[in-house]
Amino acid sequence: MSQLTELYKEIVQCQRCDLSESRKNAVPGEGPENAQIMFIGEGPGFHEDQQGRPFVGAAGQFLEELLESIGLKREEVYICNVIKCRPPGNRDPQPEEVEACRPFLDRQIELLSPRMIVTLGRFSMERFFPTAKISQIHGQPRRRGGIIYYPMYHPAAALHQPKWREVVKVDMSKIPQVLEQADNIAEVELPEDAEQLSLF
Ligand code: URA
Repeated sequence: MSQLTELYKEIVQCQRCDLSESRKNAVPGEGPENAQIMFIGEGPGFHEDQQGRPFVGAAGQFLEELLESIGLKREEVYICNVIKCRPPGNRDPQPEEVEACRPFLDRQIELLSPRMIVTLGRFSMERFFPTAKISQIHGQPRRRGGIIYYPMYHPAAALHQPKWREVVKVDMSKIPQVLEQADNIAEVELPEDAEQLSLF
């Protein structure tokens, strides 16, 4: 069994926070272990909770369209979330829930060792750039520890806001070029999370 599969087993049994009591299924994430790009959303919604798979509802359909627009299928990328269990009523994740899931996401990143991490939405961006503003940094790649971080608006938000829909499409369209030019993006070294503001 791969280390990632072992991690999934741990995630589906997790009881580190109260979301474990209300979930139907935990949603560890899915995709090839050698994926170059890792998409990180916020947390499971209703359909994801029902199926135990990430991005299978309306936002997932839009994500698939966006991927198709750059010649990718969802099976070719890795998709997961900051938190692995659905918050009741799809409310925002609480800081302690994000914290409880932190080691899982850290481990996924370590095991996948992706070339690029695309954060979808504010909560995912904040996991890496806690003090940044998504309106200021979306669509701008930064490189750290050999990984390109690329913040985008969440596809679900874009579904309801036509102006963001265009922005999301444009940001997605830049991904192939960002990957191609990854070696030219200057590495930003930062000692501590708290100093990540200076990245942007
Ligand atoms: N929104 C997310 O952030 N993640 C999902 O898995 C589905 C919708």
